[in-house]
Amino acid sequence: KHPFLLTLPARAPQDLNAIPHVRLGALKPETLVHIVVRVSHASTFTAWRGEVSGSSKTGGVQKAMLTVVQGDSQQGEVVLWGAAMAWLPQIQRNRDAVWEFKVLLVKEDLASGRLELHSTPWGSCEPLLPGDDKARQFCKRTHPERDTVSFEIDLQTLLSQKYTGEDDLTKISTKRTSDVQLKCQITGFQFQSNPSQDVSPLINSDTPLEGILDVVSGDITFAGCGRCVSKLSTDANGIYRPCYPCLPYTGVRRYYRPALLMVKEGISKVCIQVPPILVQKILQNIPPEKLSKSVAPSSDRRFVHVVADALHCLLSVQSTVTLTVHSHFLCDENSVPIVQDFLLLDIDTQV
Ligand SMILES: [Zn+2]
Repeated sequence: KHPFLLTLPARAPQDLNAIPHVRLGALKPETLVHIVVRVSHASTFTAWRGEVSGSSKTGGVQKAMLTVVQGDSQQGEVVLWGAAMAWLPQIQRNRDAVWEFKVLLVKEDLASGRLELHSTPWGSCEPLLPGDDKARQFCKRTHPERDTVSFEIDLQTLLSQKYTGEDDLTKISTKRTSDVQLKCQITGFQFQSNPSQDVSPLINSDTPLEGILDVVSGDITFAGCGRCVSKLSTDANGIYRPCYPCLPYTGVRRYYRPALLMVKEGISKVCIQVPPILVQKILQNIPPEKLSKSVAPSSDRRFVHVVADALHCLLSVQSTVTLTVHSHFLCDENSVPIVQDFLLLDIDTQV
Protein backbone atom coordinates (compact mmCIF):
# COMPACT_ATOMS: atom_id res chain seq x y z
CA LYS A 1 0.00 0.00 0.00
CA HIS A 2 2.86 2.37 0.79
CA PRO A 3 5.74 0.99 -1.27
CA PHE A 4 8.01 3.93 -0.42
CA LEU A 5 8.10 2.69 3.14
CA LEU A 6 9.88 -0.42 1.95
CA THR A 7 12.83 1.67 0.84
CA LEU A 8 13.39 2.94 4.36
CA PRO A 9 16.19 1.15 6.15
CA ALA A 10 14.80 -1.25 8.73
CA ARG A 11 15.26 0.16 12.20
CA ALA A 12 16.73 -2.21 14.71
CA PRO A 13 14.08 -2.44 17.42
CA GLN A 14 15.45 -1.73 20.86
CA ASP A 15 15.37 -4.57 23.34
CA LEU A 16 13.50 -3.25 26.38
CA ASN A 17 15.58 -5.49 28.62
CA ALA A 18 18.84 -4.07 27.33
CA ILE A 19 18.36 -0.32 27.58
CA PRO A 20 21.74 1.28 28.27
CA HIS A 21 22.67 3.77 30.99
CA VAL A 22 24.08 6.68 29.00
CA ARG A 23 26.08 9.84 29.45
CA LEU A 24 24.30 13.08 28.61
CA GLY A 25 27.05 13.91 26.15
CA ALA A 26 26.36 10.76 24.11
CA LEU A 27 22.62 10.83 23.42
CA LYS A 28 21.20 9.58 20.13
CA PRO A 29 17.76 10.73 18.96
CA GLU A 30 14.83 8.29 19.05
CA THR A 31 16.42 5.87 21.47
CA LEU A 32 15.33 4.70 24.89
CA VAL A 33 17.83 5.24 27.67
CA HIS A 34 18.35 5.13 31.43
CA ILE A 35 20.23 8.01 33.02
CA VAL A 36 21.79 8.70 36.41
CA VAL A 37 21.84 12.43 37.17
CA ARG A 38 21.46 15.20 39.69
CA VAL A 39 18.59 17.62 39.14
CA SER A 40 19.82 21.21 39.27
CA HIS A 41 16.59 23.00 38.37
CA ALA A 42 12.93 22.17 37.89
CA SER A 43 10.09 24.23 36.49
CA THR A 44 6.62 23.47 35.25
CA PHE A 45 4.90 24.81 32.16
CA THR A 46 1.71 24.25 30.24
CA ALA A 47 1.82 22.72 26.78
CA TRP A 48 -1.18 22.77 24.48
CA ARG A 49 -2.80 19.43 23.85
CA GLY A 50 -2.28 19.90 20.13
CA GLU A 51 1.45 19.73 20.74
CA VAL A 52 1.06 16.43 22.50
CA SER A 53 -1.43 14.47 20.46
CA GLY A 54 -1.53 16.32 17.18
CA SER A 55 -5.18 17.18 17.67
CA SER A 56 -6.33 20.60 18.71
CA LYS A 57 -8.38 20.64 21.86
CA THR A 58 -8.91 23.22 24.51
CA GLY A 59 -6.96 23.09 27.70
CA GLY A 60 -3.28 22.60 28.37
CA VAL A 61 -1.17 19.75 29.63
CA GLN A 62 1.02 20.40 32.61
CA LYS A 63 4.63 19.40 31.98
CA ALA A 64 7.83 19.81 33.95
CA MET A 65 11.28 20.64 32.64
CA LEU A 66 14.22 19.39 34.68
CA THR A 67 17.75 20.60 34.11
CA VAL A 68 19.98 17.66 34.97
CA VAL A 69 23.75 17.29 35.31
CA GLN A 70 26.26 14.50 35.51
CA GLY A 71 29.65 14.53 37.19
CA ASP A 72 31.48 15.61 34.04
CA SER A 73 29.37 18.83 34.08
CA GLN A 74 27.37 17.74 31.03
CA GLN A 75 23.88 19.23 31.25
CA GLY A 76 20.66 17.89 29.83
CA GLU A 77 16.96 18.47 29.94
CA VAL A 78 14.31 16.00 31.02
CA VAL A 79 10.67 16.69 30.17
CA LEU A 80 8.14 15.05 32.49
CA TRP A 81 4.50 14.73 31.61
CA GLY A 82 1.54 12.45 32.21
CA ALA A 83 2.01 10.04 35.10
CA ALA A 84 5.65 11.09 35.45
CA MET A 85 4.51 14.47 36.84
CA ALA A 86 3.94 12.56 40.09
CA TRP A 87 7.76 12.25 40.44
CA LEU A 88 8.17 16.00 40.74
CA PRO A 89 7.38 16.60 44.45
CA GLN A 90 9.85 13.93 45.54
CA ILE A 91 12.54 15.37 43.26
CA GLN A 92 11.94 18.86 44.62
CA ARG A 93 12.17 17.64 48.20
CA ASN A 94 15.53 15.91 47.67
CA ARG A 95 17.62 18.44 45.80
CA ASP A 96 20.94 16.79 46.61
CA ALA A 97 19.97 13.28 45.61
CA VAL A 98 21.30 11.35 42.63
CA TRP A 99 18.37 10.04 40.58
CA GLU A 100 18.08 7.09 38.28
CA PHE A 101 15.53 7.77 35.54
CA LYS A 102 14.58 4.66 33.61
CA VAL A 103 13.16 4.36 30.12
CA LEU A 104 13.35 7.92 28.84
CA LEU A 105 12.98 8.68 25.14
CA VAL A 106 15.61 10.89 23.52
CA LYS A 107 13.89 13.43 21.25
CA GLU A 108 15.27 16.26 19.20
CA ASP A 109 13.67 19.62 20.00
CA LEU A 110 12.78 20.95 16.54
CA ALA A 111 13.19 24.58 17.53
CA SER A 112 16.60 24.43 19.18
CA GLY A 113 18.00 21.23 17.65
CA ARG A 114 18.95 20.07 21.13
CA LEU A 115 18.31 16.57 22.38
CA GLU A 116 15.81 16.31 25.21
CA LEU A 117 14.86 13.33 27.32
CA HIS A 118 11.14 12.68 27.62
CA SER A 119 9.39 10.57 30.21
CA THR A 120 7.53 7.53 28.89
CA PRO A 121 4.65 5.57 30.44
CA TRP A 122 7.09 2.71 31.17
CA GLY A 123 9.56 4.91 32.99
CA SER A 124 10.50 5.18 36.63
CA CYS A 125 12.46 7.54 38.84
CA GLU A 126 14.29 6.46 41.98
CA PRO A 127 16.87 8.15 44.21
CA LEU A 128 20.12 6.19 44.49
CA LEU A 129 21.90 5.57 47.76
CA PRO A 130 25.07 7.69 48.11
CA GLY A 131 27.42 4.69 47.79
CA ASP A 132 25.66 3.21 44.78
CA ASP A 133 28.02 2.17 41.99
CA LYS A 134 25.99 3.89 39.29
CA ALA A 135 25.84 7.09 41.34
CA ARG A 136 29.59 6.97 41.64
CA GLN A 137 30.12 6.20 37.97
CA PHE A 138 27.91 8.98 36.59
CA CYS A 139 27.66 11.59 39.30
CA LYS A 140 30.81 11.67 41.31
CA ARG A 141 31.58 15.34 41.62
CA THR A 142 34.15 16.57 39.16
CA HIS A 143 35.47 19.05 41.67
CA PRO A 144 35.58 17.03 44.89
CA GLU A 145 38.88 18.64 45.83
CA ARG A 146 37.45 22.06 45.18
CA ASP A 147 34.41 21.36 47.31
CA THR A 148 36.45 20.23 50.24
CA VAL A 149 39.40 22.56 50.17
CA SER A 150 38.08 25.92 49.06
CA PHE A 151 38.21 28.02 52.19
CA GLU A 152 36.09 30.85 53.46
CA ILE A 153 37.76 34.22 53.72
CA ASP A 154 36.49 37.74 54.05
CA LEU A 155 37.00 40.10 51.19
CA GLN A 156 39.16 42.57 53.07
CA THR A 157 41.62 39.84 54.11
CA LEU A 158 41.69 38.48 50.57
CA LEU A 159 42.57 41.92 49.22
CA SER A 160 45.12 42.78 51.90
CA GLN A 161 46.90 39.42 51.60
CA LYS A 162 46.69 39.55 47.79
CA TYR A 163 45.94 35.89 47.89
CA THR A 164 46.53 34.09 44.61
CA GLY A 165 45.05 30.65 44.11
CA GLU A 166 46.89 27.84 42.42
CA ASP A 167 46.93 29.01 38.86
CA ASP A 168 45.94 26.38 36.40
CA LEU A 169 42.65 27.46 34.99
CA THR A 170 43.21 25.35 31.91
CA LYS A 171 42.79 22.22 33.99
CA ILE A 172 39.46 22.93 35.58
CA SER A 173 38.90 19.29 36.49
CA THR A 174 42.25 18.63 38.09
CA LYS A 175 43.07 19.25 41.69
CA ARG A 176 42.75 22.87 42.70
CA THR A 177 43.53 23.47 46.30
CA SER A 178 43.10 27.12 46.52
CA ASP A 179 39.76 28.61 45.65
CA VAL A 180 38.13 30.93 48.12
CA GLN A 181 34.59 31.31 49.34
CA LEU A 182 33.31 34.82 49.83
CA LYS A 183 30.09 35.85 51.49
CA CYS A 184 29.17 39.19 50.04
CA GLN A 185 26.48 41.41 48.61
CA ILE A 186 25.99 41.83 44.91
CA THR A 187 25.90 45.50 43.99
CA GLY A 188 26.15 45.46 40.21
CA PHE A 189 25.91 43.27 37.12
CA GLN A 190 27.13 44.00 33.62
CA PHE A 191 27.31 41.90 30.48
CA GLN A 192 30.76 42.03 28.94
CA SER A 193 30.99 43.25 25.38
CA ASN A 194 33.61 42.72 22.73
CA PRO A 195 35.06 45.66 20.80
CA SER A 196 32.49 45.37 17.99
CA GLN A 197 29.57 45.69 20.39
CA ASP A 198 28.08 48.59 22.28
CA VAL A 199 28.97 48.53 25.94
CA SER A 200 26.15 46.94 27.90
CA PRO A 201 25.01 49.24 30.71
CA LEU A 202 25.82 48.45 34.33
CA ILE A 203 22.77 47.25 36.26
CA ASN A 204 22.60 48.08 39.96
CA SER A 205 20.00 48.44 42.69
CA ASP A 206 18.97 51.84 41.28
CA THR A 207 18.20 50.44 37.83
CA PRO A 208 14.42 50.24 37.35
CA LEU A 209 12.95 46.96 36.14
CA GLU A 210 12.21 48.53 32.73
CA GLY A 211 15.88 49.44 32.40
CA ILE A 212 16.92 45.88 33.20
CA LEU A 213 14.37 44.57 30.72
CA ASP A 214 15.93 46.83 28.07
CA VAL A 215 19.34 45.35 28.74
CA VAL A 216 18.27 41.71 28.70
CA SER A 217 16.18 42.31 25.58
CA GLY A 218 19.39 43.36 23.82
CA ASP A 219 22.28 41.38 22.42
CA ILE A 220 23.23 39.27 25.44
CA THR A 221 23.83 35.85 23.87
CA PHE A 222 26.25 34.25 21.45
CA ALA A 223 26.61 30.96 19.58
CA GLY A 224 29.44 28.84 20.91
CA CYS A 225 30.89 25.36 20.77
CA GLY A 226 28.57 23.02 22.67
CA ARG A 227 31.53 21.43 24.39
CA CYS A 228 34.09 24.14 25.26
CA VAL A 229 31.93 27.30 25.04
CA SER A 230 34.31 29.04 22.58
CA LYS A 231 32.54 31.62 20.46
CA LEU A 232 32.07 30.33 16.92
CA SER A 233 32.59 32.51 13.86
CA THR A 234 30.56 32.12 10.69
CA ASP A 235 31.74 31.71 7.11
CA ALA A 236 30.57 33.76 4.13
CA ASN A 237 27.32 31.78 3.99
CA GLY A 238 26.53 32.35 7.63
CA ILE A 239 27.36 28.73 8.54
CA TYR A 240 29.14 28.26 11.85
CA ARG A 241 32.76 27.21 11.51
CA PRO A 242 33.54 24.14 13.60
CA CYS A 243 35.51 24.44 16.83
CA TYR A 244 38.75 22.75 15.69
CA PRO A 245 40.01 21.63 19.11
CA CYS A 246 36.69 19.85 19.71
CA LEU A 247 36.33 18.09 16.35
CA PRO A 248 34.72 15.68 15.50
CA TYR A 249 32.20 17.17 17.93
CA THR A 250 30.39 19.97 16.07
CA GLY A 251 27.47 20.85 18.35
CA VAL A 252 26.51 24.51 18.54
CA ARG A 253 24.87 25.93 21.61
CA ARG A 254 23.61 29.38 22.53
CA TYR A 255 25.17 30.91 25.63
CA TYR A 256 24.78 34.08 27.61
CA ARG A 257 27.63 36.52 27.16
CA PRO A 258 30.06 36.50 30.08
CA ALA A 259 29.36 39.14 32.68
CA LEU A 260 30.93 41.09 35.51
CA LEU A 261 29.59 40.96 39.03
CA MET A 262 30.32 43.85 41.37
CA VAL A 263 30.32 42.66 44.97
CA LYS A 264 31.04 44.23 48.33
CA GLU A 265 31.61 43.13 51.87
CA GLY A 266 31.88 45.91 54.40
CA ILE A 267 34.00 48.60 52.77
CA SER A 268 35.74 46.25 50.34
CA LYS A 269 34.56 45.99 46.77
CA VAL A 270 35.69 43.87 43.84
CA CYS A 271 34.60 43.00 40.37
CA ILE A 272 34.29 39.29 39.52
CA GLN A 273 34.20 37.73 36.05
CA VAL A 274 31.25 35.41 35.44
CA PRO A 275 31.54 32.76 32.71
CA PRO A 276 28.49 32.04 30.48
CA ILE A 277 27.33 28.89 32.30
CA LEU A 278 27.19 30.73 35.61
CA VAL A 279 25.43 33.71 34.03
CA GLN A 280 22.75 31.17 33.12
CA LYS A 281 22.70 29.90 36.70
CA ILE A 282 22.25 33.45 38.00
CA LEU A 283 19.42 33.94 35.50
CA GLN A 284 17.45 31.08 37.04
CA ASN A 285 18.87 28.56 34.58
CA ILE A 286 16.69 29.82 31.77
CA PRO A 287 18.33 28.69 28.52
CA PRO A 288 19.21 31.72 26.35
CA GLU A 289 17.32 30.38 23.32
CA LYS A 290 14.11 30.60 25.36
CA LEU A 291 14.32 34.34 26.12
CA SER A 292 11.89 35.40 23.43
CA LYS A 293 9.42 32.60 24.11
CA SER A 294 6.26 32.90 26.17
CA VAL A 295 6.21 31.41 29.62
CA ALA A 296 2.87 29.81 28.70
CA PRO A 297 1.05 29.81 25.36
CA SER A 298 -1.72 32.12 26.56
CA SER A 299 0.64 34.47 28.40
CA ASP A 300 2.14 37.80 27.35
CA ARG A 301 4.93 37.12 29.79
CA ARG A 302 8.09 35.91 28.10
CA PHE A 303 11.19 34.32 29.63
CA VAL A 304 13.02 37.60 29.08
CA HIS A 305 10.71 39.06 31.76
CA VAL A 306 11.61 36.23 34.13
CA VAL A 307 15.30 36.94 33.56
CA ALA A 308 14.80 40.67 34.16
CA ASP A 309 12.93 39.90 37.39
CA ALA A 310 15.72 37.58 38.53
CA LEU A 311 18.35 40.30 38.07
CA HIS A 312 16.15 42.96 39.63
CA CYS A 313 15.56 40.75 42.65
CA LEU A 314 19.23 39.78 42.97
CA LEU A 315 20.30 43.43 43.05
CA SER A 316 17.49 44.95 45.08
CA VAL A 317 17.26 42.37 47.87
CA GLN A 318 20.87 43.06 48.91
CA SER A 319 21.06 39.72 50.64
CA THR A 320 24.31 37.89 51.17
CA VAL A 321 25.32 35.27 48.63
CA THR A 322 28.10 32.70 48.81
CA LEU A 323 30.55 32.85 45.92
CA THR A 324 33.32 30.38 45.15
CA VAL A 325 36.01 32.39 43.43
CA HIS A 326 39.43 31.87 41.95
CA SER A 327 41.59 34.86 42.76
CA HIS A 328 44.79 35.94 41.07
CA PHE A 329 47.09 38.85 41.93
CA LEU A 330 50.16 39.95 40.09
CA CYS A 331 52.27 42.40 42.07
CA ASP A 332 55.23 44.65 41.29
CA GLU A 333 58.45 44.66 43.36
CA ASN A 334 56.78 46.85 46.00
CA SER A 335 53.97 44.29 46.18
CA VAL A 336 51.50 46.70 44.73
CA PRO A 337 49.02 44.74 42.64
CA ILE A 338 49.39 45.35 38.90
CA VAL A 339 46.70 42.85 38.06
CA GLN A 340 43.93 41.51 40.22
CA ASP A 341 41.56 39.01 38.66
CA PHE A 342 38.64 37.20 40.16
CA LEU A 343 36.81 34.43 38.34
CA LEU A 344 33.50 33.06 39.58
CA LEU A 345 33.48 29.25 39.92
CA ASP A 346 30.13 28.85 41.63
CA ILE A 347 27.38 30.90 43.19
CA ASP A 348 24.85 29.94 45.81
CA THR A 349 22.07 32.48 45.85
CA GLN A 350 19.91 30.61 48.33
CA VAL A 351 19.78 32.61 51.50
ZN1 LIG B 1 35.06 23.58 21.33
